[in-house]
Amino acid sequence: MSDKNDDSSEAIAPDDSRAAREAAERLMAESEVNIFEGVRQEDGGPVLPVRLKPEDMFCLSCHRDVPCWNACCYGADVTLTPYDILRLKGNLGLPTREFLERYTYSDIWPRSGLPVAKLQMGADGKGACGLLDEEAGCTVYADRPSTCRYYPLGLGAIKLKDAEEGQEKMDFHFLVKEPHCKGHDEEKLQSVAQFRTEQGIEPYDRMNRGWIDIQMKMASWKTIGGPQGRDLSEQTKRMFFMVSTDVDEFRRFVFGSKFLDTYYVEDATVALLQTDDEALLQLGFDWLKNVMFNEPTISLRKNVLQAAIARTRGELGAV
Ligand code: SF4
Ligand code: SF4
Repeated sequence: MSDKNDDSSEAIAPDDSRAAREAAERLMAESEVNIFEGVRQEDGGPVLPVRLKPEDMFCLSCHRDVPCWNACCYGADVTLTPYDILRLKGNLGLPTREFLERYTYSDIWPRSGLPVAKLQMGADGKGACGLLDEEAGCTVYADRPSTCRYYPLGLGAIKLKDAEEGQEKMDFHFLVKEPHCKGHDEEKLQSVAQFRTEQGIEPYDRMNRGWIDIQMKMASWKTIGGPQGRDLSEQTKRMFFMVSTDVDEFRRFVFGSKFLDTYYVEDATVALLQTDDEALLQLGFDWLKNVMFNEPTISLRKNVLQAAIARTRGELGAV
């Protein structure tokens, strides 16, 4: 409905005009990525095109008596985040490699072009999740993945070019309204923030932040062909996959290669990395950001840095 007081032909002062133009340019420069979606269709049909804020309300109730109980655990597109994998392998008491082999398959996340692990849904991808018990429901409920916690909400992020420092990224939510989900017909009204708390999403978002940042950056750079206009090497993609999916393998890499001779890591942190998977993940994200985007998230040891400078000078013919 139009508002009679909202006269779009009204003259605006030069300052307002400039502000409006800048706002429009900023909007044009936005790149938007949906991180958790969990839908079955790639055409985006069931995703409602409304960005939700934490205080926005929506109707949903999911419980054992809904006629669609467990329907969303068939044929779903569940990309596993690094923290999802830590929680799931812990719940099942399996080494990472065994968990990945039994329950997942690898795929390319189309928005970023980076390799990811997804939950296997039957042999043809349309069946039941391997972690579903058709009578009892999700067998790993306390440690279910981020996408399952979010559903039927999704998480998206916008990267604003030219925004002020610290405000370049903005998360938002959206509703996924697939016909099979009858929870939307229930009367329970809640805010996005209440739903997030009820579903225990906060620690997942916190632990996955570095991984989400990398996916976002690659998604926005994909349009220009990768960092500095180049695609990532296969080796870099393999390193990304190792850190993102197999913390056991990354630990073997950190302690069995020249990693700790190359990068400076405090002694107390090195001791922690022997046993603490979460600390190892955070180191992995910092390392990837440095390797992939040259961000100053991890430091080379002084002697390695000096040798690299001398090598570069030699190559440039400097005295
Ligand atoms: S992990 Fe649990 S909630 Fe998620 S799809 Fe599988 S069975 Fe369903
Ligand atoms: S389809 Fe919707 S209401 Fe049904 S079990 Fe899944 S989330 Fe709950």
